[in-house]
Amino acid sequence: MASDKQVTFVIVGGGIAGVTCAEQIASQCPSDEVYLLTASPLVKTVTNFKQVSKTLEEFDVEEQPSSVLEEKYPNLKVVQSAVKLLQAKEHYLQAENGQTFHYKKLCICSGARPKILTQENPHVLGIRDTDSAQEFQKRLSKAKRIVVIGNGGIALELVYEVEGCEVIWAIKDKAIGNTFFDAGAAQFLIPSLEADKKDRSLPCKRSRYTTDKTAAGHSGASGELGSALGPDWHEGIELRGAVQNSSGIHIEYECEVEKIYTQQEFLESKLSTKKSELGVWPAYVQLTNGKIYGCDFVVSATGVVPNTDPFLSGNNFELAEDHGLKVDDHMRTSEQDVYAAGDVCTAGWEPSALWQQMRLWTQARQMGWYAARCMAADVLEEPIELDFCFELFSHITKFFNYKVVLLGKFNAQGLGQDHELLVRCTKGQEYVKVVLTGGRMVGAVLIGDTDLEETFENLILNQMDLSRYGEELLNPNIDIEDYFD
Ligand code: FAD
Repeated sequence: MASDKQVTFVIVGGGIAGVTCAEQIASQCPSDEVYLLTASPLVKTVTNFKQVSKTLEEFDVEEQPSSVLEEKYPNLKVVQSAVKLLQAKEHYLQAENGQTFHYKKLCICSGARPKILTQENPHVLGIRDTDSAQEFQKRLSKAKRIVVIGNGGIALELVYEVEGCEVIWAIKDKAIGNTFFDAGAAQFLIPSLEADKKDRSLPCKRSRYTTDKTAAGHSGASGELGSALGPDWHEGIELRGAVQNSSGIHIEYECEVEKIYTQQEFLESKLSTKKSELGVWPAYVQLTNGKIYGCDFVVSATGVVPNTDPFLSGNNFELAEDHGLKVDDHMRTSEQDVYAAGDVCTAGWEPSALWQQMRLWTQARQMGWYAARCMAADVLEEPIELDFCFELFSHITKFFNYKVVLLGKFNAQGLGQDHELLVRCTKGQEYVKVVLTGGRMVGAVLIGDTDLEETFENLILNQMDLSRYGEELLNPNIDIEDYFD
């Protein structure tokens, strides 16, 4: 019979949120025992953390064996086993390996999994972790045509990186990359999609993601429970299909998937289409615009669903509309002494006018770190204020080899008609957009090496009235930094 451990802090999840939370709490409370329970054999650690500006941060992510954490923090133990049961009222947790825990404070950082269009069709694939990325690569190597569904970051990267295979990209919006960009930015990026691969290699710095190939073949005990991939997930994985010199991309705008057929279902269907004209394919996708495409397989990149399953039964968690565990401004769920951070949670506090939650690497780190500080403060009965990082949304990434910086309400989210946009664009070089409301800057999209991020971040944070500058604000002949000194 496994022993029942009494522990002060238990963290669930070996992704960025869980590991950051565990490290922070272990260093802040060195005399308390901390347990990190994770379904994946490797943990994700943040390295080379760099605060680029007040809110922008960059870091590398490395997958490491859990012993690395245990060596660094003598009070931290990592258990590689998925949690299968939580009884929140009893502060009791059970892992699949039979170990049980009585905790004082628990933080759930179990991430999210891809929303898959259909579970039944073997020709539909989601990309989430190292295993699924490798499965994708394997299938792609034999594919002549794939259909990509979705318009977020993963779809964007994917269609850009795939070579030697025709890509049909179906998006429900009027422009590509709607999660991150407006139509103008999409227009700026489209030529990169059409450019030859050899002409694409602009140098660009960004967070690197490394995987330990020796362990990459294993997923957690419960199957699909590996950590989410992150920036540069496709680096080191050749995304090449079976066709020489063909990487044509065809975009179907403003449509969704009506139905996905296996070959047999398609042949037996009563569809009026001339089936033979569509060729013979393992799968067929019918879009809401009426078109049907045959393909080798479909990639479903339509967002994620928080991994809450093992925690809900018998407990009383308040869930948000997106099914995340709703947390307050101390990262507390509705169950006492249970906190949550990263992709699994949904911010339930009244956010700052310039911040929104997005399930991104940076926010997973920030939330994990802040949740640990909240847990420690609660144990010590000390007050704690919402961290500054939740004041302004900021994200640095790379799309189509361009550096991309997003600040505040970069897409005028929630502003309705009450905003003004200023745009400056130099084809193939940079795209700069600022969002103003009442003459004050509330958001910006910076694509390319614009060097404007710090100045704009300041202008957004200090909410200076910029009305009198008008379009001069983006005049390329004015050194804006000097202007506002
Ligand atoms: P995860 O990293 O998913 O970790 C969850 C952990 O919980 C895992 O270790 C898992 O094993 C464990 N777990 C799950 N269930 C249990 C259980 N029952 N018991 C114990 N352990 C459990 N973000 C960016 O900022 N930039 C990008 O460019 C970017 N690209 C992405 C590309 C891809 C293909 C994907 C899938 C995601 C991308 N993201 C990107 C998003 C980013 O990876 C996630 O937001 C981030 O990793 C979330 O971290 P997390 O710690 O909350 O969850």
